[in-house]
This record gives sequence, structure tokens and C-alpha cells, in this order.
Amino acid sequence: MRADRLIAAVFALCFVAPTAAFAQAPVAYRLTFPEPGHHLMQVEVSFAGLPAAPLELHMSRSSPGRYALHEFAKNVYDVRITDAAGAALRVARPSAHEWLVARHPAAVRVSYRLFGDRIDGTYLSVDSAHAHINMPSALMWARGLEDRPVTVRFEPPPGGTSWRVATQLFPGPDAQTFTAPNLQYLMDSPSEFSAFALRTFTVRDGAREPTFRLAIHHDGEEAELDGFARDVEKIVREERGVYREYPAYDGGTYTFIADYLPWANGDGMEHRNSAIVTSASSVRASRTDLLGTISHEFFHSWNVERIRPKSLEPFNFDDENVSGELWLAEGFTNYYGPLVLQRAGLTQLAEFASEMGDTINSVTFSPGRHVRTAEEMSQMAPYVDAAGAVDRTSFENTFVSYYTWGEAIALGLDLTLRDRTGGTVTLDDFMRSMWEKFGRPGGHAPGYVDHPYTIADAKAVLAAVAGDAAFADDFFARYIQGHEMVNYARLLADAGMVLKPRAPQAGFTGELPLQDVQGGVRIAGAVPSGWPAYQAGLEHDDIIISIGGTTVSRAEAVDAAIRAARPGTAIAVTFLRRGQRIAATIRVVADPRLELVPAEQAGQPLTDAQRRFRDAWLRSAAGSGGP
Ligand SMILES: [Zn+2]
Repeated sequence: MRADRLIAAVFALCFVAPTAAFAQAPVAYRLTFPEPGHHLMQVEVSFAGLPAAPLELHMSRSSPGRYALHEFAKNVYDVRITDAAGAALRVARPSAHEWLVARHPAAVRVSYRLFGDRIDGTYLSVDSAHAHINMPSALMWARGLEDRPVTVRFEPPPGGTSWRVATQLFPGPDAQTFTAPNLQYLMDSPSEFSAFALRTFTVRDGAREPTFRLAIHHDGEEAELDGFARDVEKIVREERGVYREYPAYDGGTYTFIADYLPWANGDGMEHRNSAIVTSASSVRASRTDLLGTISHEFFHSWNVERIRPKSLEPFNFDDENVSGELWLAEGFTNYYGPLVLQRAGLTQLAEFASEMGDTINSVTFSPGRHVRTAEEMSQMAPYVDAAGAVDRTSFENTFVSYYTWGEAIALGLDLTLRDRTGGTVTLDDFMRSMWEKFGRPGGHAPGYVDHPYTIADAKAVLAAVAGDAAFADDFFARYIQGHEMVNYARLLADAGMVLKPRAPQAGFTGELPLQDVQGGVRIAGAVPSGWPAYQAGLEHDDIIISIGGTTVSRAEAVDAAIRAARPGTAIAVTFLRRGQRIAATIRVVADPRLELVPAEQAGQPLTDAQRRFRDAWLRSAAGSGGP
């Protein structure tokens, strides 16, 4: 041990001087799969031309597009850090995710094993059929070398000779070796290594003609993929209509990487020049849902990957990434996902209306809307974005998803802009202005955005697009940094859509998650605050044993008794709380929950003005030209 360190020190002294020649020596990763059936990946990293300063190795704690901590170091073991000859170097562990080599030669080798068995947009999945690698979950990196180029070599397991690599990494000298210009780009480049099916198409875009690749690892039938790929192309063309140009994809290529496997977890994750889409379902069973995820993730190639909040740039792999702008980055994207499907003719009007209605309903009646603003909800992402906690939270009563609320804000802003300008200014104009100002200028290197925006910038762009700074100030103050909602019923009437209560004659006490248990019906989640059941004192874990004087043992009986109660009347309820029997009275209200339907479906005539408004909003923009 002692001798190794001495040799290492001498080696370092000899090679410190000519660092210029080595300063940009690439960091080289080699990925092998000795036991894929046991979900193992072996990683070897070679560093060369290292400066004499301590080598600080990190496993990431977060992943681009994810905002909570995921502590990827937990699945790393058998870490060996040596000189080029294989002699072990002395390593300290300043934290659970860091390995510190105080003294080392210019060349250092690191190897470790990694277990990974979750298919989604965040983690590592290795099995006999593939390796699905989200880089932050898998690759150790060195502090201070973030701007060095990188090479990644994928070695197939025994029997994996037909495996290929789908990735936004740049092609290298052979089919198994890829490159990245820096760490930010590497970490943003998930890779699927398997015998996937591939479909490609190109779309002319002014002087450019980007190539789109659809790599699908699935266990469905090959014949299903052609029609699916045609629908993906419709989405890709339709979204161009919003911005009137594609981003300049690095390498001229954008790659959808799909894992549609029964053992996958449903997810979608955006990257600069690719997206991961995963599902336990199949093209045959869930085509529209899968297209919805593709629509959402592809929209991110403008909104968040390049129209990027300053709070997320550059991404911090060592900590949570907190952003007050996710209502725009995620929420507005969540609005365009279904809107683009509708414009591309991939959904029926009633489906689109139903989805928008559910969004308005959910935000309107979420108790959390009065607790935090949409900006503050965005800052909660580290606690709710696939975050784990063993203690209970009050999120049902204090949180509204920035996806849902942001979607509702986008819908409200789009309709408001169209309403106040007779259709001459729309949310598409706002998004395109954000693109021109913050997205199109790009970055000094792939993986970076040089002009990220702040919330004040977004407000200034709205003021410019609307031609009215007071309008922008008021909209942000009330609906984004306040707690109000626009008058959806009035605005949607412009488009011949009717927002109305689903069942106003039915009794309601607030939505109760109910579960049949021994001796009664358990309240299996939070009771929504502000609603009659909460006001009557009911809480999570209470076991309802009678309602309206009748003993109950089934959730359906509790639901039926509440719905049958006349709004304005009181209903007696008896429940057990931690063994104690409690009697209460709930004052029943009319069910206020909303649905959105096309006027025709509600038996109302559609006026010419409504038809024009609706057509302008929902018709295809895929043919829109360049700026
Ligand atoms: Zn998203």
C-alpha cells in the first residue's frame, strides 16, 4: 500500500508539467455486462492527463428533468480506483456519493459494479434483453473535468451480438463507441442497448432537414410500428407549426427511445435531442396514451431543453434542482401535449374537451390552490417528483401539481389572449416569442443554454406579445403568483364548449378515498380540507361504521348514501378512530364537480363565431411556414 502511493506520487510529479498536452484528454467509459440476468453492469472509467489536485469522484444525486434526490450511489459497489498499472490508490469517502483520491498519478482507472432493475426515464435497467441506461444513475464523474470530452464504449454481453445503441450521443469511430463534448451533454444522453426496432423519417425545415429516429424495444408485433411511426411523424410536424421551425438538433438528429415492455414503469423524460418513453402497455393496447407522452416529451425539445429556466441551468447533479417556473416548463408542455394530438387529428374533440375539463375541475377544487401559488408549487418539485418519503404528508390539502395547474394556466392564457384580440394573438405567439428570445440563440457548447429565462423575463415576453404590460402584470399577479383562476366557463363558451357540473342533483361531502376493511369502511387517504366531511371532523384512517343510521361494510354503500342525500340536508355518520367510537353530522352540498363538453353534445347550437374560434384554436398548424 505504502509503495503504491509512493509510485503514484512520483508518477504524478513526472506528468504534472506537460498538462497542456493532456488538458483535454477525454474521459473514457467502457460499459460491460458480465451478468445481465442479475441486472449488473460493470463500468470502467479511464482518466488521463489529470492535474495534481485531488481527484474528486461523484455519483450523481439527481437527473436532468427530475427534481428530487435519487441517490444513485446506493446501487454502486466493488469500487476500485487504481493507477494505470492496476495498483490501488488511497481513497477517502467525504460523503456517501463521493470518492476522494488526494494523491494520484496523471492517469487513474476507476471500476465499479452497478445494480439496476427499473425501466423508466431516471434509473438503470439491465437484463438479458437490454441495457437501458440513464447516465446520471450509472456514470461516476470527476469534479473539475466537466468540460472534458467523453467517450463511451458499449460492449455487448455474451449472446447480445444483435444489440445496437440508440442514443443522442455523437457517433464515434465504430458502431459501439460514442462521444459527448462535455459532462452536461453526457448526462443528458440516455442510451438503449438492445435489439430494438427502428423507424426513421426526415422533415424539411428551411435549409435544414433533421432526421427523426424511433427506436422501440417492445414485445409487440413489428407490423404495429409502421402506423405508430406515421402518427409520431404527424406529432413532430404539428409541433413545428407552433414554433415554425425545429431547434438545431445536435448532429441533425432527434431520437425517441421507447421501452414498451410489461415490466417497464410508465414514464416520459425529455432531453435535448432525444426522449425516453416507457410503458407497461403496448402500441396495440394504449396507442393514444403513448402518443400523448410522445407529444409532451417532444414539445420539451423547445420548452425546457432550450427555452430553459435560469433556475435549471446548468443542471446540478449534486443536489435538488429547485425551479419556480415548472408551471411553464412542465405545465404549458402538458397543455400542448393533448392540444397537438387534437390539432394533428389523433383525438376526438370530446376527448380533448374531457381532458381540459378534468384539468379545470382538479385545480378548481384542490384545497392546495389556496395554500401555495403555481410558482410555489413548482418549488415543491423536490418533494413530489418521484420523491420518496416514509412519513405522511398533507400534500392532498396543500399541493396541486404544477403539471395540472400549469396546464390550466396555459389553457386560460390561450383563451384569454384569443378572446381579447379577436384571435390575432394566441399562446402559440407567446411560445414562439419565448423561443426566439431564449431558445434559438442556443449555447456555447452542446448541453448548455446561454440565455435562460427568469419569471420576470416570461412576464416581459407576455407584455410584448399582448402589447399590454398592465395585462401581463395582472395575469401573473392573479393566476401565477396568486391563487385565482380565470373564468373558464365564459372563455370556453367562445369556442362552443360548455363547462358545467356533472351531477348537480347529487349529494357531496368532498372526495373520500374509501376502502373496505374488517368492521366498516376506512378512509384510506386525506380528507379534502374545506369540504363538509373535513368540517365534520373526519380524517385519514377513520373507519365509518354507519351512515344515515344504517350500518355499512362496503365503500359503495357509503358513496350511495352520500349521493342520495339531498343537498342542504345533514347526514349522521358514526366512525371508529383508533378504537374510539365517534358520532358526527355532515352537512351535504350539491356535487360541484365540473365537466367540459362540446356545445353540440350538450344539445346547444354552435354559432358561426364559435365555430371560427374553435377552428382557429384546434385546426392543424403543421403547414405554417418559417418566420
Ligand atoms: Zn414534462
